[in-house]
Order: sequence, then C-alpha cells, then structure tokens
Amino acid sequence: MTHIAVIGAGQAGASLVAKLRNSGFEGDITLIGAEDALPYQRPPLSKAYLLGEMQLERLFLRPESFYAEHNITLRLGTRVDAIDPQRQDIIIGDEVIAYDQLALTTGSKPRHLPASVGGDLKGVHVVRDLRDVDEMAPEVRQGARALIVGGGYIGLEAAAVCAKRGVAVTLVEMSDRILQRVAAPETSAYFRALHSDNGVDIREGVGLDHLQGDAGRVQRAVLSDGSTLEVDFVVVGVGITPACDLAEAAGLAIDNGIRTDELGRTSDPLIWAAGDCASFPYKGQRIRLESVPNAIDQAEIVAQNMLGAAKTYVATPWFWSDQYDVKLQIAGLNSGYDTVVTRRGEGAATSFWYYIGEQLVAVDAMNDPRAYMVAKRLIEAGKTADKTVVANPEADLKPLLKA
Ligand SMILES: Cc1cc2nc3c(=O)[nH]c(=O)nc-3n(C[C@H](O)[C@H](O)[C@H](O)COP(=O)(O)OP(=O)(O)OC[C@H]3O[C@@H](n4cnc5c(N)ncnc54)[C@H](O)[C@@H]3O)c2cc1C
Repeated sequence: MTHIAVIGAGQAGASLVAKLRNSGFEGDITLIGAEDALPYQRPPLSKAYLLGEMQLERLFLRPESFYAEHNITLRLGTRVDAIDPQRQDIIIGDEVIAYDQLALTTGSKPRHLPASVGGDLKGVHVVRDLRDVDEMAPEVRQGARALIVGGGYIGLEAAAVCAKRGVAVTLVEMSDRILQRVAAPETSAYFRALHSDNGVDIREGVGLDHLQGDAGRVQRAVLSDGSTLEVDFVVVGVGITPACDLAEAAGLAIDNGIRTDELGRTSDPLIWAAGDCASFPYKGQRIRLESVPNAIDQAEIVAQNMLGAAKTYVATPWFWSDQYDVKLQIAGLNSGYDTVVTRRGEGAATSFWYYIGEQLVAVDAMNDPRAYMVAKRLIEAGKTADKTVVANPEADLKPLLKA
C-alpha cells in the first residue's frame, strides 16, 4: 500500500491529509506532530482564546474521530528527528518509518530573546503554541504590568488583549513605527491611535536593551533610551523564522523557507512542502506567506499534486487581525507600493488602498468589509480601481467590479 507521510500537524498538515482522502487517495496516511494537541487554529491564541472567551475544543480544526473515521494515523507529541530522502525514511528516535511520498508542513518558529538579555527569565513569553498561551494566560490579569516587545500583528493583538483585561501595557517597537514591515504609515497611525485610546503606552524607535530579574523571574526592563520599567511579564513578538531544520539537514534546497516549485514540490521529487515553512514562485518573485488562508490553499493544492494533478498554486494573499472592536482585513501584497489612497466609510470604517502607479495591489480595511470585498475581488482579477472613486466616500464601489 502506498504510504504518504506528513510532518507537522498544524493548519497545513491537517488540511493536506483531509484533502488527500477527499481526493480519493486510499493508501496509508500518517500525520506526525510535535505538539500534544489535536491540530488546531492559531489565530485565536492572540485573540479570543487569550482573552478567555474561547474554549479549547473550538480551537481544534477537526474532532479526534475525524482522523480515525478517515483512516489517518495521527502521531501527536512526536517530534521527527530527521528525514533520509535517499532511503525514503523518517527517523523518530530509534524508530524508522518508510514513506513513498512526504509532505513537510512544519510551520515556523518564534524568535526568542537571547538569554544574554534576560530572555530565559520566567515571565517572558512568546505567542506561538497553545502551550505558550496557556502558560501566559494566568499572568494577564487586572493590575499587572506588561511589556510587549515588537509592534507587529502578534504584539499588537497581545497588547489589545492585555489592555482589555486591565493590564498596564507598554509596547516598544525598535523601528520608527509599529507595523513598519507590513503596512503603510497610514495603517500604523490608525493602530497607534487605537491603542493609545485604550491606554497602551506605545514607544516607537525604542528597543529593549535587557531584562533584569529576581530569583529567576523578570522584574524590570531597561530600554534602549536608558529608561527603565517595572514589569510583571513580557510578551516577545519579534517575528518568526520558517521551520526548515529537517529539510536543510536532509539537503533540500532552502530559499527563505523550503524552496518549492509552483506545484509545491521541493528539490526532492518525492518531498513536498506547504504553509509557513514553504517558499514558492509568485508573479515573478519568490515569496513565503504566514497566514491561515495560504496554509489551507497551498496544502490542498499539494495534496492533489501528490496524487498527480499537476495544479499550479496561485496564491491569493489575504489576512486579518482583530484588535479591540476593530477587524482589520488585508488583501493583496503591498510590496513596492508608491501611493496610498484613503477611503472613509460609514461610521468608523476606513480603508487604505495601495497602488503601484495606477495598479491597485493591496488594501487594509478597518471595520469595512464592503471595501475589503471589492478590493479583494479587483486584486484577484488583476483589475484596478480609479483613485478618485476610491477616495470619494460618496462613490459606490460596486460598479468598479463591472469595469
Ligand atoms: C498567535 C498567532 C496569531 C495568528 N493570527 C493569524 C490571523 O489572524 N490570520 C492569519 O491568517 N494567520 C494568523 N496566524 C498565522 C497562522 O496561524 C499560520 O500562518 C498558520 O498556522 C500556518 O500553518 P502551518 O501548518 O504552516 O504551521 P503551523 O500551524 O505552525 O503547524 C506546524 C506544526 O508543525 C510542527 N512541527 C514542526 N517541526 C516538527 C517536527 N520536526 N516533527 C513534528 N512536528 C513538527 C509544529 O509543532 C506545529 O504544530 C497567527 C499565528 C499565530 C502564532
């Protein structure tokens, strides 16, 4: 019987095995994951779950019974040590599992603060896994003092949850502005104001110098401008790196992630990759996306291609973030933009439209699902939107779709 093995039981891995069965594959499937939990969704970890407004069961992508019913062998709490592409083997301690085809859906790893600046003190948290959040959640309580290091989406979402829970929050961002890597100054300004209104002390152009502890527990932060803060806990949101260790050690090509072709195949013809760990061709560039929609869509294409479909993965980037009562929805990729057009919608709705010349390439929409939907459809169709129409709050956007 043909055996397909999948390493990494997260969003992409779970989607991939389901799609294999759904596409009629009748051979053996093994899904191997390092974490103890059933495959789960991560977005609520920095949102509703951290707030205590979502039960654990609702994080799970599918109930345990799904895997048994679909004859999928689930090996949880099992970290793969190595793969041997020549022998087509997976190595877990003393155990060797042979595969016919293999998919790597190993996700990404959060960057930690080094121990030399106090990153190993108790009370210093990252937000990647369920276990990280379960450890941090008891610290998020009224009257506590938190330092958030990093003003990207994870740091800002954590700041929002902490502020809502009555924690006194200071957020430091080393670069000039929060969200600098991913968004226009307009979006940064919007979220800076939102957080300030909710009592978060945002300090831009300021980094963490080091943490000081007492009896192994964090107590104080010394910032790059020389100021100090008394803190009860610290959340580190300084980015992630793709989990390529297994692939790299096995000699697979790495290029900002595990290098795949447009089908999702790595440099080894029997090994595929999908999700956060995989880089792939996109409009003449090579990109890697860190999002749920990408993990699902790419994994489903890879599953079909493992069965011989030869479908090109055409990414349609979109993403969201929830902070307080604001839902941010993002479509497209804004890299290389030269103009941002602001559209004020009804009430608090606002959107920022990114252009290269006259071509619409991306949108950030805050509490404006209508603007988001129109922009997303235009971007996916390779169409654009007249800037004067977009900027005019009275102008109906729907006709743009017919143009
Ligand atoms: C707090 C948080 C909030 C987020 N919010 C959003 C959001 O609002 N919207 C959005 O689109 N995206 C969001 N994301 C990103 C999104 O969750 C990821 O892009 C997505 O989970 C990627 O799926 P994946 O399967 O590639 O990786 P993962 O879901 O990370 O799964 C990879 C799995 O592989 C396992 N693994 C790695 N190495 C091995 C090994 N050697 N052996 C066995 N198992 C291994 C890991 O333990 C992990 O369980 C968020 C992420 C986080 C952490």
